[in-house]
Parts: sequence; structure tokens; C-alpha cells
Amino acid sequence: MGKLDFLADELERLRREGLYTTIRTVESPQGAWIVVDGRRVLNFCSNNYLGLADDPRLVEAAKAASDRYGVGPGAVRTIAGTMSIHTELERRLAEFKGVEAALTLQSGFTANLAVIPALTGPDDVVISDELNHASIVDGVRLSKARRKIYPHLDVDGLRAELATARDEGAERILVVTDGVFSMDGDVAPLDEIVEAADAYDAIVMVDDAHGEGVLGRGGRGIVDHFGLHGRVDVEVGTMSKAFGVVGGYVAGSQVLVDWLRQRGRPFLFSSAPTPPDVAACLAAVDVLEGSTELVDRLWANAERFKAAMRAAGFDLGRSETPITPVMLGDEAVAQEFSRRLFEEEHVFAQAIAYPTVPRGKARIRVMLSAAHAVEDLDRGVAAFTRVGRALGVV
Ligand SMILES: *Cc1c(COP(=O)(O)O)cnc(C)c1O
Repeated sequence: MGKLDFLADELERLRREGLYTTIRTVESPQGAWIVVDGRRVLNFCSNNYLGLADDPRLVEAAKAASDRYGVGPGAVRTIAGTMSIHTELERRLAEFKGVEAALTLQSGFTANLAVIPALTGPDDVVISDELNHASIVDGVRLSKARRKIYPHLDVDGLRAELATARDEGAERILVVTDGVFSMDGDVAPLDEIVEAADAYDAIVMVDDAHGEGVLGRGGRGIVDHFGLHGRVDVEVGTMSKAFGVVGGYVAGSQVLVDWLRQRGRPFLFSSAPTPPDVAACLAAVDVLEGSTELVDRLWANAERFKAAMRAAGFDLGRSETPITPVMLGDEAVAQEFSRRLFEEEHVFAQAIAYPTVPRGKARIRVMLSAAHAVEDLDRGVAAFTRVGRALGVV
């Protein structure tokens, strides 16, 4: 008996319950069409909202940076020093987001792990939306603060928790929410959240991972979308989605960023993003600041696809953004739907099930992109419709 045999039993159980995730191997760059397991398929899976993941401008910038700076950052920035391109990216990100300062980290995930424990201690309370991203959940777990959860998007529920936290004598209160929720594509009512938080003198933090490059003027994100500049204390972002690269950041006031340079543990104890990544991110900021063309095309694509899917009878849940959940409910149906799309239709659209979403809320999540041509979208709708009819879903 091996000591880890229980894992084989657990894996078998996942397979039996339709909860086992198969990870496909991609053999091409990301784009509207990709090669997966040797087959060319229409890609509805990636967060490559603007098609920047293989954009020649980003690729060239990465090549030039590796020639000039090499490929590795050497060590954590407090020890090996900060490369000039890291500070340049931080300056440009702050400008793009309309804030004083920004700090880059290895990922959006580590950005949440850096900021939440650095801002809150044992006398404080963190209040979090029940559907917040796993990296926020983990950031809250790493904090010594007490935690409270409010029902999804429920500002009255948030107010009740704020009142309780004040009654209980919390020193500081941090309210944290996703901007765009990654599994449903709905948008936090950030204007009302800020108002509620202000009434209780609570700090407001938003994770804009699916908002930047998507919402706001030219993709400046959720704060810009709601016109809340100067009223949101902490923004977390990622460069792995619309920016098409990898990396995370925290944006806000200079004092916030100064503090994180002293006390943000993933900043202090994990190496910086690599020079080619940073250069590609800088090129992405250039592209976004240069033109709204890609953002506009993303939204036009999303509107066309969603209208046709609704007309075909599919339930798209609460989506208000290019994240398009095709709600199926049953885990096994979702897995079978995804399998048939891939095998019969050459459409790559992954089923998402528990634990990523609650049990009984399985879905296929379609991620639309500016990279899709109109014909790609129409072909996708036709494929969904054929499989949906075969499975009795529509
Ligand atoms: C994707 C995502 C992250 C993680 O971003 P990475 O850069 O991939 O680590 C964090 N928060 C939210 C809300 C996300 O959707």
C-alpha cells in the first residue's frame, strides 16, 4: 500500500461524478483557431480577449527585451534590484488606470495574496462577495482578519455585514469584490459598493482581471466604466487575460504601492516577472492606448454571438460581458456537450463544473475574442445548436 493510494480513489470518484477535468495539449499559438491534440479547432476557451497573445508587436517587444536584458530577473527585486523595464511598466500601468502608482507581480493570483494580508490584521474585518475568485479567497485566508461573506452582488447584504463589523469594533474594514465575475460574466455594482463602503469608512478593493481590456474607455477597466476614479482604494489586475501575456499588478495610491514593496510577501519572497514578459506587457499597453479598435471588435463579437445563442434557445445566465456561460446544470451533460463539440464539431469549449462553480450549475463557458471572425462566431452557434438538439438541451 502506497501512502498516496487514497489519491487514486479520489481521482476515480471525480471521474465517476463527471468532475474530472481533462487538460488538452495545445500545439499552436493562442488565437481564434488553435491546434489541440493534433487537430485544428475553433477556440472558445482562452481569456485572450483582444487576440494579443500572439500579436507580432508583443512578440517583437519580447524578443528585443530578451536580447537586451536576458530572460531572467535574477532574484526578488528587493535583493537583485528592479530592472528599468519593471518600473517603466508600472509607470505606464498607473497612467493607463488613472492612478498614482502600480506594482507588478508574477500573476493576478499572487497580487491578491500580496495585498489582502498586507492591508489587514487581527483587529480588522474583510468582507467578500460569495463568488469572489479563488485567489481572493486564498488572500483572505492568509490574512489574520476576521472574514464575512455577503450574498453575490447583494449590496444590502454587504451593508448588513458592514454594520455588524462596526458593531463588533473592527478597526479597519476591507470590502473586496471581483469586478467581472469570471464564471458568470456579470459585473459587480461597484458604484453602490463604494457608496456603502464609504458610509462605514471601509477600504474598497476590486479585482479587475476580466475588466481590463474589456470594460471602460478603451479597456481601462471597471473603475473607468463606473467613473469611480479616486474612489476605489485598491485595484488588482492581471496581464494574463486581455493583455495576452502573464503577470499581475496592484494599482492605487503611492502609499499603497510603497507599503507593498515593504510588506507584500509574494513581492518580497518570489522573483519578478521576466524581462520578455514585461516588455510584451508594455507593448500591450501601447496597443490599448493607441486605439480602441480591438476592444470595440470584442464587444461587437460578443453581442453577435450572444444574440444568436439566445435566439437558438440557450440560457446564458447573468452574462453582461464577453464571458458567455452556456448554462447546462448537470455535470455529466456539460462534459458530454463539451466532448461532442470537440469530437464532432471541432469546437474547443471547456465544460466548467464543481468545484469551480457550485454543484448543479455546470456550464460550458464560451470566451469570445476580438480574434474571432464573424464566420467563426456563426460556425460556433451552429455547432452548439446541433449538439444542443442531439442532447435535448434546446
Ligand atoms: C484569472 C483571475 C485571476 C488570476 O490571474 P492570473 O494572472 O492568471 O494569476 C485573479 N482574479 C480573477 C478575478 C481572475 O479572473
